[in-house]
Amino acid sequence: MTHIEDNLISVRDSITQSISTSGRNPHDVQLIAVSKTHPADAIKDAIEAGQTVFGENRVQEALQKWPALKAQYSGIELHLIGALQTNKIKEALSIFDVIETVDREKLARALAKEMNKIGKYPQCYIQVNTGKEPQKAGIPPEEASNFIALCRDELKLPIVGLMCIPPAEENPTPHFEMLKNIAAQHDLTNLSMGMSGDFEEAIHAGATHIRVGTAIFGKRDYAK
Ligand SMILES: *Cc1c(COP(=O)(O)O)cnc(C)c1O
Repeated sequence: MTHIEDNLISVRDSITQSISTSGRNPHDVQLIAVSKTHPADAIKDAIEAGQTVFGENRVQEALQKWPALKAQYSGIELHLIGALQTNKIKEALSIFDVIETVDREKLARALAKEMNKIGKYPQCYIQVNTGKEPQKAGIPPEEASNFIALCRDELKLPIVGLMCIPPAEENPTPHFEMLKNIAAQHDLTNLSMGMSGDFEEAIHAGATHIRVGTAIFGKRDYAK
């Protein structure tokens, strides 16, 4: 057994426990394995251990790793979980199946335009900056309602849910609950929230998708 398979088993155990203690339905929580910075070989270990849903935060890196992986393995679902520049939309739509980071009007308009042009409509999430951190992407919570309406009603983007990354130093639960409340007000079903350090809290708060990198693949080495 590889260490990645080992890690996946223990992450899955923790997920199962959190689902059970919070009285949720196991089918309502999906694990997204965040493979950013990790090489294709590590990803193959995860796929061979049964993982099918992955997340990457950079379009360029995804384009280097995923075309070959998707050609080799079927049934993969790749989520974009990092910032999307408008000049990378075309490339992003060529490789990602889900876009989790719709976070501003300019991007929403350009995405809608490109999707209509190529006739491909991957599921989209709106990223909400629940902690209103200046360095972080995401629509401020007080603007979320108007932005959701713009994306869904005017631009007809296939918005399925919301995504957030709580401030690192804070208790994440109030942020998860804020995201859940905004989603409920707009009948959005999917909540992408929770990472290696807080996915259990996120499941308790109602996450439908948790994004876990380090606990599966180990520490990231940005020096390489
Ligand atoms: C890197 C990343 C993750 C995974 O974080 P870990 O702490 O390694 O689990 C989750 N979400 C986003 C948006 C990320 O960029």
